[in-house]
Amino acid sequence: MPYDYDVLIVGAGPAGTACALGLAGSGLRVGLLDKAQFPRDKVCGDAIPSPALKALTRLNPAWAAELRELTAGYRTDMRTSRLVSPAGTGVSVHWQAPAFNSPRLQFDDALLTLVRRHTATDIRENSAVKTVTADAQGVTVQLADGASLTARLVVGCDGAHSAVARALAPAPLDRTRHCAAVRAYFEEVDDVPATTSDFLFLGRYRAGYCWVFPVGAGRFNVGFGMLSSDVARQKLDLKLVLQELLATHPHLVPRFTRARQLTPIQGFGLPLGGSARPLTGPRALLCGDAAALIDPLQGHGIDTAVISGLLAADHAARCCAADAFGPEALAPYAAAVQRRLGRDLARRYRLMRLLARAPWLVEGAFRAAQWPPLRRVLVRAMA
Ligand SMILES: Cc1cc2nc3c(=O)[nH]c(=O)nc-3n(C[C@H](O)[C@H](O)[C@H](O)COP(=O)(O)OP(=O)(O)OC[C@H]3O[C@@H](n4cnc5c(N)ncnc54)[C@H](O)[C@@H]3O)c2cc1C
Repeated sequence: MPYDYDVLIVGAGPAGTACALGLAGSGLRVGLLDKAQFPRDKVCGDAIPSPALKALTRLNPAWAAELRELTAGYRTDMRTSRLVSPAGTGVSVHWQAPAFNSPRLQFDDALLTLVRRHTATDIRENSAVKTVTADAQGVTVQLADGASLTARLVVGCDGAHSAVARALAPAPLDRTRHCAAVRAYFEEVDDVPATTSDFLFLGRYRAGYCWVFPVGAGRFNVGFGMLSSDVARQKLDLKLVLQELLATHPHLVPRFTRARQLTPIQGFGLPLGGSARPLTGPRALLCGDAAALIDPLQGHGIDTAVISGLLAADHAARCCAADAFGPEALAPYAAAVQRRLGRDLARRYRLMRLLARAPWLVEGAFRAAQWPPLRRVLVRAMA
């Protein structure tokens, strides 16, 4: 069968671009589709975790350096996290590993620029996938504009509402393994050192937190997220909760008196990792949010998206070399993700549930963290 592509990657966020970069020089015909035209926004906290940068540096140090250059005007390096407990106890944690905050509008565009510059990937923007079918012969992807594309293997990197996952590896929505979060951009926020991210934990809204992250150019990403099952049980409107926090929380009120809101409050879902969700389907590998790989404790998923995208690239190349796309050929990808990410995500999910059930433990941890040697132990357990 004459295929359009050997590997067709759906979604050009961190997972999809990492997968395309991982396939650079493989000699395979690689397609990368996205429904959006870049640069495009993605509702996020914009904190780029250090494991994402480490994974890209390991892949190619020059590309990682280029990513820093491309985001230079839209980035703030992160050195410190300030955490405030529900009772108001504060802890500051200083980080050695390089990490930065950068609006996804620019960060994801920079990743796609690397794909454009350094790979032969056929990039198709404004290409929304409507349906995906697979059989022994190959995969067919039907686009909303009526076009249809074929491939030997599809890599689903199309985020929390993945069309690829829905079609080839469906899993029911479990609200106890899913977060909802909202965010808006502000400027003129007071008392935020440029290299410091703030996390506020709240007694009323457990298994979640409010954040204030500087993202460069005098802007701040301000948001709030919590477990979707709790949102449903408490019948919360998270946009109203964020507005109320900014107007009433004793740590936020003095800092937001001069602040100007630049964008409307927008929300999006976070499929949490640590579940038994299938990571493969017929001729399909899933990565990032499509595979539900978000850290349940801290809510970051850019790092696991990049890492799973790179693992998928490696396994896609092996499947193509062996011309083997059956379940036994795809299973090593799921095993690799489980080894690299899955076990840790499952541990962190259990820890998140424990802390949500035992607020006294959260308070105790904050008090214990006032003592530097214990703080180091706690930070190691949570980081
Ligand atoms: C409010 C909020 C705050 C967050 N804060 C952080 C944070 O600070 N740090 C962090 O690390 N993580 C954070 N996350 C999680 C992070 O945003 C995701 O884990 C990350 O974006 C996953 O990357 P991805 O490539 O898997 O998916 P995405 O970034 O969602 O990319 C998916 C791509 O697929 C495209 N697509 C979707 N459907 C189709 C289709 N049918 N056809 C074609 N293309 C399609 C989309 O346009 C998009 O470009 C946050 C999430 C939320 C909701």
